[in-house]
Amino acid sequence: MSTLNGKANLTSTLYMPGVMHVPVSRVPFRGPASGEAARAREARPPAAARGGPGAERLPGRARIPAVGVLALQGDVAEHLAALRSSGSRPVPVRRPGELDDVDGLVIPGGESTTIWKLAAMFGLAEPLRKRIGSGMPTFGSCAGMIMLARRVIDGIPGQEVLGAIDMTVRRNAFGRQADSFESDIVLRGLPGPGFRAVFIRAPWVEEAGPDVEIIATEPRTGRIVAVRQGTALATAFHPELTPDLRIHTLFVDMVRERS
Ligand code: GLN
Repeated sequence: MSTLNGKANLTSTLYMPGVMHVPVSRVPFRGPASGEAARAREARPPAAARGGPGAERLPGRARIPAVGVLALQGDVAEHLAALRSSGSRPVPVRRPGELDDVDGLVIPGGESTTIWKLAAMFGLAEPLRKRIGSGMPTFGSCAGMIMLARRVIDGIPGQEVLGAIDMTVRRNAFGRQADSFESDIVLRGLPGPGFRAVFIRAPWVEEAGPDVEIIATEPRTGRIVAVRQGTALATAFHPELTPDLRIHTLFVDMVRERS
C-alpha cells in the first residue's frame, strides 16, 4: 500500500509557498482512504476515556490524559485521530489557555517557519517555551522535530526553535517535496515489525548530544530520524499518516507517566 500517494494531495495543499495557513477542515484528505486503518482512526474510546465522570480516577494505563495538538498549521487532524486511537483525549491548541489545560503536546508536521510565526502571532511562543521547559511531554514530527531542536541548519534567517532536545537538525535534508519517500525502519526499544515511515521534505538529525536517545535511523542514509530526550520525543517522519500507532502510543505513555 502506498500511503504517500494519498499524502501527496495533502502536502501539495498544505505546503503552497506563501500560504500562511490552510484550515485543516478544508483539506480534503482524511487519512488512509479505506480499510482497517480508516476504521481504526474512526474508533472512539469508551465513554470514561472521553473525559466522562471518573475518568481522572482510573488507575495506571487506563487513565486518559489530555494531549494537545498545536493547531496552527500542518497535519493536525491526523494527529488528533491517532492520539484518540492511542488512548488519549486529543485537544486542538491555538491559545495559551488551551495549552494550560493539556498534559502533553504534539507539534505536527507542516512548515516550521510558518508554525513559529503563527505561534508568535497567537501569543503562544513564550507559553510554549515555559511549559516545554518545565517538562511537559512534547512530541514533534517533521516540522515539529525542527521546532524541538536546539540548533537548525538551513533554517531561514531568524528562525527560532524551542530547544527541548540537544540536537542539530538539517532542514529539508532528504530533498524537496518531489523527493518524499517511504522507508521501513527499526524502532529501538519498541517491539514489532519494521515501521513504515513517511518522509516529506523531512529533516534529519545531523548531530545529537550525549543525553539524546536514538530511536531510529533511516536505512538508506544511516541518518538519525527518531530521538528522545527526557520528556521530548521527535521523528523526522510522519507516524500520523500510517495506521501503526506505536509512536503515538509511546508518547501517550510518556504523558501518562508525567501526569
Ligand atoms: N521542511 C519542512 C520545514 O522546514 C518540514 C516538512 C514537514 O513537516 N513535512 O518545516
